[in-house]
Amino acid sequence: MRADLHMHTVYSDGELVPAELIRRAKVLGHDLIAITDHVDATNVEWVAEHLVRAAGLGDDEIRVLPGVEITHVRPARIAEVAKTARRCGAAWIVVHGETPVEPVEAGTNRASVENPDIDVLAHPGMLSVSEAEAAKENGVLIEISGRMGHNIANGHVCSVAREAKADMVVDSDAHAPEDLMSEARARLVARGAGLTELEAEAALRVNPYKYTAGL
Ligand SMILES: [Zn+2]
Ligand SMILES: [Zn+2]
Repeated sequence: MRADLHMHTVYSDGELVPAELIRRAKVLGHDLIAITDHVDATNVEWVAEHLVRAAGLGDDEIRVLPGVEITHVRPARIAEVAKTARRCGAAWIVVHGETPVEPVEAGTNRASVENPDIDVLAHPGMLSVSEAEAAKENGVLIEISGRMGHNIANGHVCSVAREAKADMVVDSDAHAPEDLMSEARARLVARGAGLTELEAEAALRVNPYKYTAGL
């Protein structure tokens, strides 16, 4: 049992075609992944439609969800891009949150957690408690990131999500083969971020399946 709901392919800045990403994930024991390539208003239709085809490469052993990661889109336009992604078949919508290592526009976290159409706020950096509370209210998962750089704020994100009782998820944000995370590696990222054993269990083994059950 291993899920990873934030991964990239050559359809944005990843290194692998979907078939290889899926194969490598399967070999590492994954049974659920979402492929979430970067989109803005200019490529969202193209990426979503291609990832719907990629999802067709899944099988009985591994479920593959077609997704997108809405990236550096102005906060006021995030809802519109999310709607377009849904219309083109995206089942899983991640927003590229206010990571400490990129100049993501302020207001991106807020626009994401207030929109029930968004599934995951990725690497949200200095997330506030009120943003985490809105995430909980709107069913938006808060990501603990396995990606170097983005993960600088993981400890803060964990404590704020805990305070707001918002659900967390641990994702690799893989762009290359070596970024994929085994169960043990994902658990280390969770525990290193400060999640308790119970919280890590929920983030790794409960929430990914619960939140994707109806898709
Ligand atoms: Zn991102
Ligand atoms: Zn990403």
